Amino acid sequence: MKPFHIFNTLSRRVEEFQPLNPPVVTYYSCGPTVYLPQHLGNMRAYVFVDTLRRTLELNGYDVRHVMNITDVGHMTSDADAGEDKVEKTARAEGKTPREVADFYIAQFKRDCDQLNIRLPAPPLLCRATDHVADMIALIERIVERGYGYVTPSGVYFEVEKWRGQSRVGRLSRQSLDEQHAGQRLEHSPDKKSPHDFALWVLNQPHHLMQWESPWGRGYPGWHIECSAMSMRYLGETIDIHSGGLDHIPVHHENEIAQSEGATGKPFVRYFVHNAFLVGMEGAKISKSVGRFPVLGDLAAAGINPLAFRLFCFGAKYRSELAFSLDAVRAAERNLDYFAEFARNLADAEAEARADSPWTQEFDQRFIEALNNDLNTPQALAAALELVGEAYRRGDKRIWNTLKKLDAVLGLGLDAMRKVTHGEFPAEVTALQRARDAARAARDFKRADELRKELEAKGYEVKDHRGGSTIMPRRRVA
Ligand code: AMP
Ligand code: ZN
Repeated sequence: MKPFHIFNTLSRRVEEFQPLNPPVVTYYSCGPTVYLPQHLGNMRAYVFVDTLRRTLELNGYDVRHVMNITDVGHMTSDADAGEDKVEKTARAEGKTPREVADFYIAQFKRDCDQLNIRLPAPPLLCRATDHVADMIALIERIVERGYGYVTPSGVYFEVEKWRGQSRVGRLSRQSLDEQHAGQRLEHSPDKKSPHDFALWVLNQPHHLMQWESPWGRGYPGWHIECSAMSMRYLGETIDIHSGGLDHIPVHHENEIAQSEGATGKPFVRYFVHNAFLVGMEGAKISKSVGRFPVLGDLAAAGINPLAFRLFCFGAKYRSELAFSLDAVRAAERNLDYFAEFARNLADAEAEARADSPWTQEFDQRFIEALNNDLNTPQALAAALELVGEAYRRGDKRIWNTLKKLDAVLGLGLDAMRKVTHGEFPAEVTALQRARDAARAARDFKRADELRKELEAKGYEVKDHRGGSTIMPRRRVA
């Protein structure tokens, strides 16, 4: 079988993937800035991250995955200008920045859960504000090595010194002038060049979040968090780093500069970027552009949110994908097709029998497609055809194969089948029991929290005297 291949933005080529220390793969993906709900464009990025991780696991790798949560330092302009995004919402809503971040983190987790996106467990799902000491230590190294300089308004990274004569960015392949063409650069008189970016910001008394540092009270720039947290959990050189295409020219160029400026070692071996979800007619879907669709809009339109996952699979991750409710509805038909097959399998049929030999061809096609730079449309076609072939032959012995494919498709087909047969996942039964106990002890606050957890997992709870029954929630209308 062909080993896993992926497009590396560093080389602009599809390369065979070889981790530094197999079977371990170190993977860092840029996560959400938590000041507004995640829109469906963001969710496409996380479906991509999840698919990449699951595909690596299907190939037998042990993936150590870190995702950051940006809750400080990301300004309304990706350059250092404007207001801190989290603080802007905090002011508008009369909350503390921490409250704003907590609220949107919880919402982000619920949305990921609805799409069966597996997030890293804490501490690998890590908040910038919990890692300020790591950032300060890294900035000190950058300054020691001569790439950072201290001024009254902050510590800046000296981009031109780092880039040397050619001034060309390694990822974007753009010169500094091309990179910043058409962009109004904030040029603090303290900066040696308008291209330099902030590592640590000083003397901004209106900024709500502030920490002590060797240079005075202040807060970190946006980019430094990813370098610091990546190194903290994954080491100085990592295998894979991902994010949306918009991160190439500024955020990821700056991450490379800071990290390699500090360590003198390569930061990332494979940089991987997902293309954008766009509105109809290619309109930009972005938090800064007015109203943007969110996961809740799908439920409101009577569409199972999980259909969005299959909708994303319908395009390659490097192609733009146009969003419309109708297109997600079309993907929902595929979801129903798989679900119906799973639900109608009787127990004995499902587990006991070995799969028919003809299933191997579909299994291989599925993995080959994914190993060919994550060709999800082809992989999805192979999975659909596997089910179609089972019906055509009148031979349903495909369950083990289908479950294996579902390890990447992520539809939770096994859970769907078990629910039909009255079996619930152990974690769900445990939640139900804990909730029954809380009600018996009249701890209704706890019972309410546990109900919400069950609901987030897709289960409805009905109470009756002495206990409760749970059932999978019907489509949220
Ligand atoms: P943010 O919360 O704005 O920092 O973005 C989180 C992630 O979503 C980043 O990896 C972005 O590159 C990605 N992203 C933002 N907008 C879109 C979009 N319309 N389509 C796909 N990915 C996006
Ligand atoms: Zn990042």
